[in-house]
Amino acid sequence: MKITRIETFLVPPRWLFCRVETDDGVVGWGEPVVEGRAEVVRAAVDVLAEYLVGQDPLRIQDHWQVLTKGGFYRGGPVLSSAVAGLDQALWDIAGKTYGAPVHALLGGPVRDRVRVYAWVGGDEPAQLGEQIAEQVEAGFTAVKMNAAGATSPVATAAETAAVLARVAAAREILGPDRDVAVDFHGRLTAAAARRVLAELAPLHPLFVEEPVVPEQGHLLPGLVTSTSVPLATGERLYSRAEFLPVLAAGIAVAQPDLSHAGGISEVHRIASLAETYGAQLAPHCPLGPIALAASLQIAFATPNFLIQEQSRGIHYNKDADLLSYVVDPEPFRFVDGHAPRGEAPGLGVEVDEAAVRAADRTGHAWRNPVWRHADGSFAEW
Ligand SMILES: [Mg+2]
Repeated sequence: MKITRIETFLVPPRWLFCRVETDDGVVGWGEPVVEGRAEVVRAAVDVLAEYLVGQDPLRIQDHWQVLTKGGFYRGGPVLSSAVAGLDQALWDIAGKTYGAPVHALLGGPVRDRVRVYAWVGGDEPAQLGEQIAEQVEAGFTAVKMNAAGATSPVATAAETAAVLARVAAAREILGPDRDVAVDFHGRLTAAAARRVLAELAPLHPLFVEEPVVPEQGHLLPGLVTSTSVPLATGERLYSRAEFLPVLAAGIAVAQPDLSHAGGISEVHRIASLAETYGAQLAPHCPLGPIALAASLQIAFATPNFLIQEQSRGIHYNKDADLLSYVVDPEPFRFVDGHAPRGEAPGLGVEVDEAAVRAADRTGHAWRNPVWRHADGSFAEW
């Protein structure tokens, strides 16, 4: 079997899909994207495709080596995301060729269903309350929210109080049996994070995510020892090598993104690395159906898995949502806040190719917002 063609599709709301075709007629799908840089990743996929076309798609490990290392210069979000999407497509082809779901190829399932969480936004605690109540009604047992909007580097007393009010409102509605996770998005300095974490601890968050920006990973050991709150990070880390120091720092939850961190191949290895540090896996996935399908395959095959992010109804999803490009929504029909384990071969998701081709004709030009502080200076988004 040989790879004969690789195409990419720029589809709303902010995604990029790739389609890998073989001379056997088996087709694999992947989602190689950096949100806000989709066109750049598309160009990277085109360059990597020069090597892959003509190759045997089942030699996934060897292709991963060449794609990540063969260009001499390595790493970074663009290359790692391009490889990630292609890697997902190769696993999809392998599963379809062997007639098995990817989790079976990874050693077989270790759980029967996968816990997922829902995003809630809402600037006011009252509005937040309504959104959380809706998600509880829909069966979710955990929600995640941003702690705050643009925040002063050293949060004021009022900003700190606002974070606490939001999480307290969430805890009141969720009760002790459900979870709330809080995403700091790297908006606080380590000093501010330390102070807010101390006040958040009594509210028992499931975890606090990106307490500092990734380039300040060297500050994580101090934060870990300063708090009882489990700390999470990883959506902006792209390889085992980049996870090693944060795991050694003592983070509790590793959050690699299946579309950023080298795909199924590398995230499977990151999960094993995390296990040796007693850390659990909660893959980042505010993305589309192929990235989520890949994440679920990892979740079913990973012993130290905690919870899965998913993007149904997330605030980024304008003009299209998780189910816009799938033929059958079954893999994403969550029951009691859990995704069912499917036995369909490959990634287990059937892509609506006609819808994808039609959407690509319009494309998108999604960009991250640029935030400013009151004095006009750049603010972390
Ligand atoms: Mg995040």
